[in-house]
Amino acid sequence: MSDTDSERTGSNGPRVAIIGGGVAGLMAAVFTARAGFDTVVVNHGESILRRNGHLENVPGFPAGVNSRLFLDLLETQAGRNGAVFEDGRVTTVATIDDGFQLRIEAGDGEFDLQSSYVLATSWADTDYLDSLDVGLTKRGSKTYVDIDDYGRTGVDGLYAAGRIAEKPHQAIVSAGHGAEVALTLIDDSDVPFYHDWVAPEGYFTERGRDVPPGVEEIDEEERRRRERESMKVMTETFERYHPDEPTMHPSVVEKRRESNE
Ligand SMILES: Cc1cc2nc3c(=O)[nH]c(=O)nc-3n(C[C@H](O)[C@H](O)[C@H](O)COP(=O)(O)OP(=O)(O)OC[C@H]3O[C@@H](n4cnc5c(N)ncnc54)[C@H](O)[C@@H]3O)c2cc1C
Repeated sequence: MSDTDSERTGSNGPRVAIIGGGVAGLMAAVFTARAGFDTVVVNHGESILRRNGHLENVPGFPAGVNSRLFLDLLETQAGRNGAVFEDGRVTTVATIDDGFQLRIEAGDGEFDLQSSYVLATSWADTDYLDSLDVGLTKRGSKTYVDIDDYGRTGVDGLYAAGRIAEKPHQAIVSAGHGAEVALTLIDDSDVPFYHDWVAPEGYFTERGRDVPPGVEEIDEEERRRRERESMKVMTETFERYHPDEPTMHPSVVEKRRESNE
C-alpha cells in the first residue's frame, strides 16, 4: 500500500479490495472499513437492485423505500465509515506475494490495484477469477462462486458474498451475507476484533472490563450528537423524490424501441 493510498481512507490496516458495489459489497465495506481495513470498493455498472420498482422487504422501512435511494444510502454509509470507491471493471485477479493484484479497466485506460484480501460480490461476473483455483458452479447462463459455510473460496484470502455466492436473490440476504463474510475475513486476519458494537458509556467499563477492540462506548452527549446527525441526514434524504427511474430489463427496452419504430 502506498502512503497516498492509506491517506485516502485514513486507515493503516491491511487492504481489502471489494469487487462490486451493490448490496453485498457496500454492506461488506461498512464492516471492513469500521474494523480498520483500508477498504476499496471497485465497481463497474450498476446493482441489479436498480431495476426494482419499490423495495418493501428490507428492515427499517415500514412503507418500503426507493431502491435507488437505498443504494445511495448504503454507499454514503460505506463512505462515511472510510471506504473509498474506484469506478472500473475488474478483468483479472492474480495472486502475488502477500495478496492479490487486480487489473481494472476504467474509462481512461487500465490500472492495477494490490490488496491483501479480495471479496468478490460482482453479480453476475466471475470471469476475472478464471486464472485462479476458485471453484465455480454453472447453472444455465449463470456462474456462481463456490464458498464454504463462512464465505471462504478455495484460495486463501479470497472470499465471495451475495448472489454471486448463490445466496437467495433478495437484497437483505445479500446485505447480510456481505456483512457475515466481511466478519469471516476480519476474523481470519490479524486485526483485533470482538464485535462491531456501539455501547452506552459504562456498559463494559463499569463492570471493570476493557472496551473490546471494535467496540465503542459513548457518553450521553455523544449519543445525542449522533442521533441529531442521523435525524438531519435522514430528513434531508427523504425530502424529495429520487431523480432516477428504475432500470428496465434490456429485452423490454429493445421491444419498446422496436414497437416505437
Ligand atoms: C426487477 C428486480 C426487482 C427486485 N426487487 C427486489 C425486492 O423487492 N426485494 C429484494 O429483496 N430483492 C429484490 N431484487 C433482488 C436484488 O436486487 C438482488 O438480490 C441484490 O441486488 C443482489 O445483491 P448483490 O450485491 O449480490 O448484487 P448487485 O446488487 O447486483 O451488485 C453487484 C455489483 O457488482 C458490479 N460488478 C459486476 N461485475 C463487476 C466487475 N467485473 N468489476 C466491478 N464491478 C462489477 C455490478 O455492476 C453491481 O454493481 C430485485 C431484482 C430485480 C432484477
